[in-house]
Amino acid sequence: MTEKIGVVGAGIVGLAVARELAATRGAEVTVLEKEGRVGAHQTGHNSGVVHAGIYYPPGSLKARLCREGVALLKEYCARHALPYEEVGKLVVAATRAERPRLAALAERARANGVPGITELDALGLREVEPHAVGVAAIHSPRTAIADFPAVARRLALDVAELGGSVRLRHPVRGIRETSRGVEVVAGTGRFAFDRLVVCAGLGTDAVAAMAGRPGSVRIVPFRGEYYALRGAARDLVRGLIYPVPDPRYPFLGVHLTRHVGGEVLVGPNAVLAGAYEGYTWRNFRNFPQILAWPGTLRMARRHWRTGVKEVYGSLVKSAFAEAARRYVPELTADDLRRAAGGVRAQAVARDGSLVDDFAVDVHGNVVLVRNAPSPAATSSLAIAQHIAGIVPAPSR
Ligand SMILES: Cc1cc2nc3c(=O)[nH]c(=O)nc-3n(C[C@H](O)[C@H](O)[C@H](O)COP(=O)(O)OP(=O)(O)OC[C@H]3O[C@@H](n4cnc5c(N)ncnc54)[C@H](O)[C@@H]3O)c2cc1C
Repeated sequence: MTEKIGVVGAGIVGLAVARELAATRGAEVTVLEKEGRVGAHQTGHNSGVVHAGIYYPPGSLKARLCREGVALLKEYCARHALPYEEVGKLVVAATRAERPRLAALAERARANGVPGITELDALGLREVEPHAVGVAAIHSPRTAIADFPAVARRLALDVAELGGSVRLRHPVRGIRETSRGVEVVAGTGRFAFDRLVVCAGLGTDAVAAMAGRPGSVRIVPFRGEYYALRGAARDLVRGLIYPVPDPRYPFLGVHLTRHVGGEVLVGPNAVLAGAYEGYTWRNFRNFPQILAWPGTLRMARRHWRTGVKEVYGSLVKSAFAEAARRYVPELTADDLRRAAGGVRAQAVARDGSLVDDFAVDVHGNVVLVRNAPSPAATSSLAIAQHIAGIVPAPSR
């Protein structure tokens, strides 16, 4: 009998997993998605950068799956005529104090096998980005940009072509493990699967609770706000300009990113959101639940100074502009107009630490993706191979 596998979530990770399981195991896959379109959340609200693997600790899942994911994604985009442009990235040290961290980053990038990394001085960086300033930079010429929502749409077509289905407007409401597999109630339907893979991003905790597997970490939503550059200000940025990240956080700091459509975005910051899908300040729908997790308050106590700074930057446009002007001083606040933001699903442990690496748990017939923040869009095809390797094999 054909193995039946359900996947919760039609983001880029869920769709890649579904495609991989259908292609390599011949499974009949059904993707259950609560929204009316694929890629509606993180997949459709991000910086669009195909990360080259500069930042991640060598040996981590992120380091390995990012490098593998880049190769797979590049080939996938070429095969399906999807945009993929190697516009290159500069990571810029704005002050001498940041130079040791920049050098460590260059070393890490090389250890991860990132191709073409060069270290540049203040003049050298201007040859790459003529309007950028800094005391030094590393240049990653192969860092690329892609259209992740378009990749997700193409993956959904692949799933259908492989005999699977993507059921939109099917919020998962109940999960029950049985002796034969997993029963799922989604929308108005009831589904029986042999295995279930949960790739629910911001909805992970709710779905994990339905499966009776709350786990040892919880998703804390961090809103990332963006501004878009107006008119001629876009010409001030050729590719991607990033700060040297603060090693205490998995977030990369406000950066300037060219997108495949030609738009240049500035952002994202990282503000604790009041709801899992808290795209605006007004939405505090899940705040009691988010605060109820002991890790949230422990994290807030540890990082409150940064938190206050991020909130200030969120509310005061000139502060946001100042973060960008640090790297491109010709920019003014008038060059910036608000653009749509995203919300990151970041797993936080009970002790308040932010889970840095990708995390996937297997419980019987249920596989739960617990943490798939950036660069999970970049890594999605490799994450799918990784997960396909750990979904328990059919017992019949
Ligand atoms: C601001 C920001 C910037 C980023 N920049 C980058 C970048 O430049 N490069 C990069 O590689 N990564 C980046 N990322 C990270 C990347 O976007 C995510 O890691 C990736 O999209 C995760 O994909 P996903 O499929 O796990 O999650 P999602 O895309 O969020 O998909 C999860 C899906 O599950 C569905 N779902 C949830 N609950 C249920 C339920 N009960 N029933 C049915 N469906 C449900 C949701 O509706 C959603 O469609 C960024 C993220 C953000 C937020």
